[in-house]
Amino acid sequence: MNQTDPRTTPSADQRFHPSALYLVQLDPQSVVDGVRYDDTYLADEIRTCGTMRETCPVCGDGHLQLVLRQKNVRIPHLFCLECTRCFGAFLEDGTPALME
Ligand SMILES: [Zn+2]
Repeated sequence: MNQTDPRTTPSADQRFHPSALYLVQLDPQSVVDGVRYDDTYLADEIRTCGTMRETCPVCGDGHLQLVLRQKNVRIPHLFCLECTRCFGAFLEDGTPALME
């Protein structure tokens, strides 16, 4: 009973159920290893894994980018390219939506 059906391999869309996400702004320093300059926080080599349906709740511009754990990224999160804010995503019942 351990058969896997290649047609049901989860895609990013299926795993994250974007319609029921609650976004909580995160301190970039707690999610990403980077270097703080005077008023910005920069990190190198961060790959985004896709564009979410949600737009940024702060600046309202552009769609949030999905960033999964990788080099320099400690916590999977959503990232706004416009205002460079980071957000955590939670489901309706409070469980984190961005699981490993
Ligand atoms: Zn924004």
